[in-house]
Amino acid sequence: MMKILTVLGARPQFIKAAAFSRVVQRSSKIEEVIVHTGQHYDQNMSDVFFEEMDIPKPKYMLQTGGKTHGAMTGQQLEKIEEILLIEKPDIVLVYGDTNSTLAGALAAVKLHIPIAHVESGLRSFNRQMPEEINRILTDQISNYLFVPSSGAKDNLLREGVNENKIFVVGDIMYDVALYYKEKMVKPSWFEALNLTKFVLCTIHRAENTDDITKLSNILKGLELSQKDIILPLHPRTVSKIKQYGLMIPSNIRVVDPIGYLEMVWLEVHSEFIVTDSGGVQKEAYFHNKLCVTLREETEWVELVNNGYNVLVGSNSDLIHSSLVNESPNKISIKDIYGNGNTAENIVKVLEMKQ
Ligand code: UDP
Repeated sequence: MMKILTVLGARPQFIKAAAFSRVVQRSSKIEEVIVHTGQHYDQNMSDVFFEEMDIPKPKYMLQTGGKTHGAMTGQQLEKIEEILLIEKPDIVLVYGDTNSTLAGALAAVKLHIPIAHVESGLRSFNRQMPEEINRILTDQISNYLFVPSSGAKDNLLREGVNENKIFVVGDIMYDVALYYKEKMVKPSWFEALNLTKFVLCTIHRAENTDDITKLSNILKGLELSQKDIILPLHPRTVSKIKQYGLMIPSNIRVVDPIGYLEMVWLEVHSEFIVTDSGGVQKEAYFHNKLCVTLREETEWVELVNNGYNVLVGSNSDLIHSSLVNESPNKISIKDIYGNGNTAENIVKVLEMKQ
């Protein structure tokens, strides 16, 4: 029996784990031990996903959230190493691009434990983003690089990664989008808003929330559009807005962060999606919505190249005009990121290597 130790800690990783862990549970050749670093720890940023998406309970629950990048990554590294010495897994599996991803990979490589990286090969080519550094370093030390597209594979080849280590398996979030669309839930507060049409928006990336000018320009652009906008927002970002002395325009309805099943319902029923999230850009595509992306660049270049995603940064005029004037391209190419069987593809590769 092969033992995989999965390190996760942030919201997008719980969502990816929902697909992978479900498939692993069916495998007779693999057992999985989950370590949760506690990078995200609130009920609505963590627990809700384990409950409603049936993600197996973590065997280890660390408390490394709410710290600076260095302190968080350092503590994670130390504590994950202790666990690896006890568990002695055959493989350490990490998802995406957070501090937990890098810490898990670093702890493993120093103990000569092979690393599997899911959602490997993505690049924004913006090294100011903490996520970009986490991606590049994790990919350099990984042994199984599971990439969502041939473009991601090209990025790795350009960085000198050996082709034998790269597996084009599709995007695991497509598996999740297809599976949970059947189970989506209308938020209990939705009817009370009395909206016939709405735009769904998320804002959480540091480059936007930690910059008063960018944040105020984004709010201005959303206000100018005059569209009814639903904005699930973490209380920390709400308090940042207050701290900066910014007003939330009256066409924006701020709600607490929501569970995935409600998020899917809003994505499916929205007119457009506006976001700086990596995952939400893809979900827009999976659910046939045009995405207006509040960033200067994106890792999901295929969506921009096909006209399914427009990059507007924090430019209020561009945000305004794209919400008012864009007619969403009909999404005709459905398999840019595979066919929704990414978790199976990954498990097959790992089982074969056993
Ligand atoms: N999400 C959610 N509830 C929310 C906001 C986002 O369930 O209130 C989900 C969203 O559908 C996507 C994931 O969280 O699957 C994206 O995570 P996030 O935006 O935090 O990170 P990123 O994808 O940018 O790494």
